[in-house]
Amino acid sequence: MGRFFWLQEDEGVAASYGGTLNAGHRWGLPGLLNCPSCSKTWAGSGSYFPGVNLMALGDAEREFRKARPEPLAEFLRLRELVVPLAPPRAALQPGSRLGPLVGKCRGRFPDFAWLGDILLAQPHVIGGLQERGVREVEAFPTALLARPGAQSDLLEVQLAHHGQLHADCIPESVAPPCKACGWFGLRRPDEPVLDASTLPSGLDLFRLGNFETMVICTERFLDAVSSIEGDGLTWRELPVRAGRVNPGAARGGGE
Ligand SMILES: [Zn+2]
Repeated sequence: MGRFFWLQEDEGVAASYGGTLNAGHRWGLPGLLNCPSCSKTWAGSGSYFPGVNLMALGDAEREFRKARPEPLAEFLRLRELVVPLAPPRAALQPGSRLGPLVGKCRGRFPDFAWLGDILLAQPHVIGGLQERGVREVEAFPTALLARPGAQSDLLEVQLAHHGQLHADCIPESVAPPCKACGWFGLRRPDEPVLDASTLPSGLDLFRLGNFETMVICTERFLDAVSSIEGDGLTWRELPVRAGRVNPGAARGGGE
């Protein structure tokens, strides 16, 4: 098992470039209204699929423009329309954001730029990572206007959901995810631990399956970033622990 690192924005570097972003994704799945099992009304964060183009749905794309919660049956109906357009096994949870970022950007950005937990990159960065053997890194054009009539060339990195926080770092008081809707009332642990048995072996950059706002990378990814002298990222190595012997004690879900 290799080493894994939690990526975040290098805020000092971002501030030194001074760029600002004001944007949201063109489409989204609705949130969930009153889950019949757990009664929660919610929309998740950390689920972004910029490569999903709903124009293929014709007039039905309008149903995905406005963020709002919907009852489970309507949520499932709309999700079924998106599944054929999304990556295989994509975690299309309530509130998933779809399509390009639409909005404005001003000023200059580092090689890796962040909008909350959304990861963007300059075009040369993606090619540089791929040339250095980083696996499964995909990025899609944004629809950000840098000036009136001038589109930004920033790309958004599309990240699959893989791996889980280890049960050891999830408080006993946190209930397991809702089996009907996936809602999971976990706050980010101060000392996250990864469950070795859930970690992917074939890719170098992903979001955690049971804590989607955390972006995780491998040592291979960091080596490639160092090689291209990419800036805009900070990282922290996370401990990796074997899963519990008794699978009944395991928690987590979402995949
Ligand atoms: Zn539920």
